[in-house]
Amino acid sequence: MEKLLQGLIRFRKEDFEKHKELFGQLEKQQSPHTLFIGCSDSRLVPNLITQTLPGELFVVRNIANIVPPYRKSEEHLATTSAIEYAINVLDVQNIVVCGHSNCGGCHAIYASDDLLSQIPHTRKWLELAEDVKKRVLDELHEEDEQTREWMTEQINVVEQLKHLLTYPFIRDKYKTSEIEIHGWYYVIETGEVYIYNKENGKFEVD
Ligand SMILES: [Zn+2]
Repeated sequence: MEKLLQGLIRFRKEDFEKHKELFGQLEKQQSPHTLFIGCSDSRLVPNLITQTLPGELFVVRNIANIVPPYRKSEEHLATTSAIEYAINVLDVQNIVVCGHSNCGGCHAIYASDDLLSQIPHTRKWLELAEDVKKRVLDELHEEDEQTREWMTEQINVVEQLKHLLTYPFIRDKYKTSEIEIHGWYYVIETGEVYIYNKENGKFEVD
């Protein structure tokens, strides 16, 4: 905790001072250009990898960067409401779904019942990735775990892009090119971001 408190002081003295004017402009409103949907993993830091400042990214993070398919519900839906707000109120121009290497959430899709029974809410959440698991097991021709891992992480991003288009207000804006949708795959140990190419179905790095 001491580290965090020291950080608060240093932020105020250094970074805040450096961007003081920006923080002033942001006082009463935000106008982010991008809805960034990423995994909660501590090693993925959206503003750091995109070199963006406060006010630029509207960030939604959850286990395994999942977009639940659109449905009307009386439940309290955190991810769905954040998406709705970003599109319909903040009017973002881009949506990025960003997966990453060594994703614990994607790994847990294959975990044993024993383990998953200890994390029932996580198990329930990961039911949303059942279509990902099915696709990976259908397409996987090698046995090694590493191949399965990155395939799962990348296919998971692609499936979430499809889920985004189940939202009527996203579909409408996507059709009229008012919004762009992108899939990214961040590699922790190299800092590279592979971008999904819709034309050939591959993740490519520039
Ligand atoms: Zn993750």
